[in-house]
Amino acid sequence: MIFRWLRRKLIRRAPFPPAWRILLHRNMRFWSGLTADEQARIEDEIRFFIAERHWEGCGGLTLTEEMKVIIAAQACRLLLGRPGERYANVTTILVYPSGYFTGPQPTPVLGGPSTRVVPGGGTPVLGQAHDRGPVILSWRHTLEGALMDEDGENLVLHEFAHKLDMANGVVDGTPAMDSAEQAREWHEVMTSARDRLAHDPRYGLGAPLRIYALTNPAEFFAVATEVFFERPQDMDEWDPDLYRVLARWYRQDPKARMAALGDEPE
Ligand SMILES: [Zn+2]
Repeated sequence: MIFRWLRRKLIRRAPFPPAWRILLHRNMRFWSGLTADEQARIEDEIRFFIAERHWEGCGGLTLTEEMKVIIAAQACRLLLGRPGERYANVTTILVYPSGYFTGPQPTPVLGGPSTRVVPGGGTPVLGQAHDRGPVILSWRHTLEGALMDEDGENLVLHEFAHKLDMANGVVDGTPAMDSAEQAREWHEVMTSARDRLAHDPRYGLGAPLRIYALTNPAEFFAVATEVFFERPQDMDEWDPDLYRVLARWYRQDPKARMAALGDEPE
């Protein structure tokens, strides 16, 4: 504990690397929508986040500092309104070059016209957040999520939303609430939003939340988090209550931030 306190103190004392700041400015539009105070805070959080986790490149990936910064910035973005919360349940981050298989991979069997792929029984995935385990990410999709930040799909926001959900010991799409009243409102709004998505005439074709959200309440929260941060205007129009409860929990208003950037909603 003392060690961590000292390390944070030393980190804070050093200036944020200018190259990292340029990297964030160039690659993450949300960065420009933050106030100077928020940028200063998230710069500290990014450095703590990087220093306090075990990082590993997998599947032949050489993990660089720049990659860690892009991942950390997105993870820390979720907690901008909740200072003091720092993903205590995230100790290890594994990064693959692209999507990967959980379980045995398909194997190509080469042999002229009979070349075929033998299914391996594994499932192809882009990322995972294990309860009491690592966060696993595809670097390609991590970068796409960072660069295309208005399409409502963001792998890092998704997986770290799962970690926030898991932090109270239950993976049920409800992170720790600040009060019983907030929990009641959350449950009510989330239930009706899931129902709304299931009955949206644009189901699967144009509703702001992709249908994967209906897999279970945990996935609903993770997908809703992606849309809340990347397409806040669309979410607010689709279900203002959903936008409101997420804004209340995250203590952030991405819609106002986008407006500050001078964006016209698309
Ligand atoms: Zn998920």
